[in-house]
Amino acid sequence: MSIKTQHSTAISDVGLPRAAVLGVLGGGQLGKMLAADAARMGINMEVLDPTPDCPASRVARHTLGSFKEPESIRSFAHGVDVLTVEIEHIDAKALEDVMQDLGIDVEPTPATLRLIQDKLLQKQHFRSAGVPVGDFCGVEDAAAVRSAVDTFGAPLMLKARRGAYDGRGNAVVKHASDIDAAVASLGGVEHGLYAERWAPFVKELAVMVARSRDGGTRAFPVVETIHRNSILLVTEAPAHVPEDVRRRAREVAESAVACLDGAGVFGVEMFLLEDGEILLNEVAPRPHNSGHYTIEGCATSQFEQHLRAVMGWPLGSPDLMVNSCIMLNILGEADGEEGLQRAHEVMARAYAVAGASVHWYGKAEVALQRKIGHVTITAPDRQTALASLSQIDSEAAAALS
Ligand code: ATP
Ligand code: MG
Ligand code: MG
Repeated sequence: MSIKTQHSTAISDVGLPRAAVLGVLGGGQLGKMLAADAARMGINMEVLDPTPDCPASRVARHTLGSFKEPESIRSFAHGVDVLTVEIEHIDAKALEDVMQDLGIDVEPTPATLRLIQDKLLQKQHFRSAGVPVGDFCGVEDAAAVRSAVDTFGAPLMLKARRGAYDGRGNAVVKHASDIDAAVASLGGVEHGLYAERWAPFVKELAVMVARSRDGGTRAFPVVETIHRNSILLVTEAPAHVPEDVRRRAREVAESAVACLDGAGVFGVEMFLLEDGEILLNEVAPRPHNSGHYTIEGCATSQFEQHLRAVMGWPLGSPDLMVNSCIMLNILGEADGEEGLQRAHEVMARAYAVAGASVHWYGKAEVALQRKIGHVTITAPDRQTALASLSQIDSEAAAALS
């Protein structure tokens, strides 16, 4: 009997449905971290990504191709049993087609990916499901942006409906006179824009929620996220807020995921307002930067949890295993060599701190404001975690204290 046969027998003996190959659309850092857990868990993972030497290609088999083109998705799908994503900006119709024509499991469902891709449709969906969201409206032309400013006041957040990430797709309208520049910075109204009332948050909170194929959900701890220039900089777990706030944030996050279909982990971003109200910002249908702390901090990482969910295996425990856990993103502070040099300095400081783990994504290029790695600190208490963080990045530590 071959080793391969023995392995599949062992899995079926414990009642786990076995799928030989997991295909992942996207091979960035999320794909790389998924692949690291997949390799450990005995899952054959392959990624589809248009970038030669994409981060995941160091750990998983890499097919060079676009996850936005039906043809490359279809030929990639021929070789896999289950398909999932590490990015939502994919061709959802192509995924629907391969699901029907080739009988492949796609998790979460293409309908969920299609909904989340369009931030305006996403917000409308959550509002009609009764999930608390701030005021927003679609804007078809500059006059509609003007009337949104009249209704919601300024500042106002103008957002691209599609293709947004790391705040690239957001423009703040501080005064009515900024409207034309804000619209132009997002590629014009024909690009598809919508407007959101400014959320005067005191903190941003996030929760990773996992759902298995049988519909069971498990929420990871509530974390605080701090953004700089709309890009995540720091995550603290657990969020340093009263237990009542954590409970309500978990409820909002679970209610948002409850009205989406499909298995996997979902990253839920929220605003905490001064009066204690919690509003949903947006949901990502995949592992999320605010869940990176789970690798060192939790009994099961968000990546292992996503793999368990999409493979149809039992979910693991999301419990926090340390008293305090802080994640710091390493962001490009300049393009090219200079950015690389500065990132290496952050890494060097992190390697000198006990309880800090360094993750380097291995992107082909370092660019200003791009995520190129992260550091996770685990500590017996918050004070110690903050002291460690300040040795690596004193500004980030000041933002949390
Ligand atoms: P991600 O990388 O998380 O996908 P994104 O590009 O989709 O980000 P958003 O999450 O919509 O962008 O916004 C990024 C950040 O901008 C938020 O985390 C928050 O700090 C700020 N922001 C977004 N919407 C608002 C709002 N309505 N009022 C105030 N601040 C906002
Ligand atoms: Mg987003
Ligand atoms: Mg966001």
